[in-house]
Amino acid sequence: MNPFQYSKPADVHEAVHLSSAASRFIAGGTNLLDLMKENISRPEHLIDITGLPLKSVEQTASGGVLIGALVSNADLAWHPLIEQRYPLLSQAILAGASPQLRNMASTGGNLLQRTRCYYFYDASVPCNKREPGSGCPARTGLNRIHAILGASEHCVATHPSDMCVALAALAARVHVEGRGGARVIEFADFHRLPGDTPQRDNLLADDELITAIELPADQLASHSHYLKIRDRASYAFALVCVAAALELDGDQIIDARLALGGVAHKPWRDRAVEASLIGQTVSRETFSNAADALLQDAEPLEHNGFKIKLARRGIIRALSDAATAGERP
Ligand SMILES: Cc1cc2nc3c(=O)[nH]c(=O)nc-3n(C[C@H](O)[C@H](O)[C@H](O)COP(=O)(O)OP(=O)(O)OC[C@H]3O[C@@H](n4cnc5c(N)ncnc54)[C@H](O)[C@@H]3O)c2cc1C
Repeated sequence: MNPFQYSKPADVHEAVHLSSAASRFIAGGTNLLDLMKENISRPEHLIDITGLPLKSVEQTASGGVLIGALVSNADLAWHPLIEQRYPLLSQAILAGASPQLRNMASTGGNLLQRTRCYYFYDASVPCNKREPGSGCPARTGLNRIHAILGASEHCVATHPSDMCVALAALAARVHVEGRGGARVIEFADFHRLPGDTPQRDNLLADDELITAIELPADQLASHSHYLKIRDRASYAFALVCVAAALELDGDQIIDARLALGGVAHKPWRDRAVEASLIGQTVSRETFSNAADALLQDAEPLEHNGFKIKLARRGIIRALSDAATAGERP
C-alpha cells in the first residue's frame, strides 16, 4: 500500500473542499481498502467521511424517502420505512455481501463500488478501466461473468451492486455536493456505459460527494420482487439479478419497473419495455414478450452466452413473483 495523507472532516463543506483528483473519500472502506491493498487504487489523500451528519432516513414532503449517504446497508435494509414502502430495496440489499459487510458498507459507497472483473483486479495484466489504453483481455479471455448488454470493444465489465439494481427500478435520485454547489442526478443517468472511456464508472466529478439518495413516492410496494441468480446461495455477486415491480388493478398492469444487474456496465433499466407492459394483463406470455424485447440486443462473449437464457428466465420469474407478491401470506 502507498503512503497517504488522512483527514476526517466534520462537515460536508470541509470534505468537499479537501478533495482533489488525487484524493478519495472513504466510508465503510469495504471496497476501497481492498483496491488499495491490491495496488489498484493509489490515493494520496484519504478523506474519512464517517463523521459527517449523513446517517438519517427521513420522509420527504412529497411522500418519498431521503436516505443519507452514510446509512449502512444493514440499517437501510431493516429500516421500517424501507421494509414497508420499498421492500424491493430491502430484498436487494439483503441479497448482497454478508451481514458483517452490510454493517460496514454505506449507501453512497455501494453506488461507487468498482467492477469485479478479474482483469481489473489483477494489476499484472492490461485493463482499460484501470490503465486507459492498455487493452481488454476479458474480451477474448475468461468472460463468464461479463456484460451481455451495452459493452464496448474497450470494456465488457459489469457493475456488481445489488442495491443499485433496485434503486434503478425505483427511479431513485442521487443528491451530490461539490465545490460548485449541490445537484441532483437521476439514477438512470448516474452510472455510465463504458464506450471508449471505461475508466469512468459514473458522472460524479472528483470534488463531488454523494450526500443522499432520494426515493420518490410510488404504489409499487405490494407487487415487487428481487431475484438474484449466482453461483453460490450466499456471499456471491450476481450472475444475473432482476428487480421487478408492478402496480396492478386486478390483473391489469398500471405501472411497471424492470431493472437488471450483472449484465452491463451499469444497472440496466429499459423504459421502453416497462412502457410496453402498461395496459397488459398479467400472464406468462406478457412477461415472456417483455423479456424478449429487453434482451433483443444482447450480445454474448465466448463464455457468457448462458446469461441471455438466464436473464430471460429471470425476468419472467421475477415479474411473475412480483405479480403474486401481495397474495403471499
Ligand atoms: C467479499 C465481498 C462481497 C460483496 N458482495 C456484494 C454483493 O453480493 N452485492 C453487492 O451489492 N455488493 C457486494 N459487496 C460490495 C459492498 O456492498 C461494497 O463494498 C460497499 O457497498 C461499499 O461501501 P463502502 O461504504 O464500504 O465504500 P468504500 O469502500 O468506503 O468506498 C467505495 C468507493 O466509494 C467512494 N465513496 C464512498 N462514499 C462516498 C460518498 N458519500 N460520496 C462520494 N464517494 C464516496 C469511495 O471514495 C470509493 O471510491 C461485497 C464486498 C465484498 C468485500
